Amino acid sequence: MLSKSNRYVKEANLIGGQWVAADSGQTFEVNNPASGQIIGTVPFCSKAETRRAIEAASAAFESFKNTTANERAGILRRMHDVMMDNQDALAELLTLEMGKPLAEAKGEIGIGAQYLLWFAEEARRVYGDLVPSPWGDRRIMVRKEPVGVIAAITPWNFPSSMLARKIGPAIAAGCTSVIKPAEQTPYSGLAWGLIADEAGLPEGAMNIITGGASEIGKELCANPQVRKITFTGSTEVGKILMKQAANTVKKVSMELGGNAPFLVFNSADIDKAVEGAIAAKYRNSGQTCVCTNRFYVQSKIYNQFTDRLAEAAENLKVGPGMETGTQQGPLIDDAAIDKVEELVADAIKKGGEVVAGGARHSLGGTFFQPTVIKNAKPKMRFSKEEIFGPVSPVYKFTKEEDAIARANDTIYGLACYFYTQDLGQAFRVMEGLKYGLVGVNEGVITTPEAPFGGMKESGVGTEGGRHGIDEYLDTKYVCIGGLGL
Ligand code: ADP
Repeated sequence: MLSKSNRYVKEANLIGGQWVAADSGQTFEVNNPASGQIIGTVPFCSKAETRRAIEAASAAFESFKNTTANERAGILRRMHDVMMDNQDALAELLTLEMGKPLAEAKGEIGIGAQYLLWFAEEARRVYGDLVPSPWGDRRIMVRKEPVGVIAAITPWNFPSSMLARKIGPAIAAGCTSVIKPAEQTPYSGLAWGLIADEAGLPEGAMNIITGGASEIGKELCANPQVRKITFTGSTEVGKILMKQAANTVKKVSMELGGNAPFLVFNSADIDKAVEGAIAAKYRNSGQTCVCTNRFYVQSKIYNQFTDRLAEAAENLKVGPGMETGTQQGPLIDDAAIDKVEELVADAIKKGGEVVAGGARHSLGGTFFQPTVIKNAKPKMRFSKEEIFGPVSPVYKFTKEEDAIARANDTIYGLACYFYTQDLGQAFRVMEGLKYGLVGVNEGVITTPEAPFGGMKESGVGTEGGRHGIDEYLDTKYVCIGGLGL
């Protein structure tokens, strides 16, 4: 159950500085995936509330756009402090609604706060240009301006930090926002309204709506006052939003699905590769868009690596996120575990050999055993589909060029990883992989300082890094003539 003493529990929506219920009074239930129990209810809002939220954001933008970069940096720094001062309460909320181990939830709050600090710093570096003019009596100035109202739609797997990556640059740039968190994890999203308020963000500058995804999404995309859609979620929904946003030609940033390959070459340091593999695969129970989906291991070390991975996977402690020592929590819901089960059954039918796990966990509910499948083949479904669960298919390869080709044989291009100690090979493989994020001898690489974004159907635009704020800025060219020079 949610603790009533946790002051970040909010069961209302935020519109124009007011915490409100849905017009209809309707609510929806939120479950704890570890127990299946209902932890509370939040408003089920729709089009009309969304429109009011956009109007509030639009009204707030008129003054927020005139704040100084220092003022906005100050708000972001205070938001960072509020998060870190309340890291335990926010992490508890996150684990209760999402299921991840408490230590990972604390880590998520911490990294979200780091994104805020990064963008607090970047707010003060939104430079324009004075361009050498081809005319004697005119001058060319280029300035950056906030795009206006932005809409952020986020998933359940990182319900807090995915918003940090959008709210941070939005506030830094001077934009106001309407946020729609995922239906499975609305509490961590609603908590952002309290964090922002404590830090002194003006009323209306952040609005948060929970409820019917497609109705809310349609209004956010159709409303001409929204100038940018930033989305993290499935490629399928991303495509819908891009199509819908086309009618009003909005800017879009899309962080979509992945099918991350993890290549291990004969020269790799096996200890490090196994350690990286566990982190890149089983973190968040395999439910991240950068989690390894396919392992490709060179023939000489294939058995050794697979055996070691299986042993390490079997040693992971599965349990409720709130229990001390838990390394892998439950999956988010029944649909998620059904899909994982189907993919494992498909692999077994097509000749896959289960060398670790392979079935639902004895804890019941949506707990699944950390699983490793040997003799993975291209015809198995997980070669093309995102698993989003704790299953490692291990494929064998002989030649480097084949491994690169197979790794690239997907519509996705988000994260990839490889392990080698051969420097020439490291460069050849890095240059050959068509992915937006590459971990060389590293399994976890996300950090606010670096740009995060996918190629191909994994997305458009980047979050974080020095380019992250550009997505929230328009470029204005000003030609100043008649200077009589
Ligand atoms: P996942 O498969 O990880 O749940 P989704 O892409 O379905 O990913 O969901 C990510 C976010 O997109 C959630 O906030 C969800 O409510 C929202 N969403 C789902 N369908 C739509 C839609 N048609 N329009 C707008 N948002 C949507």
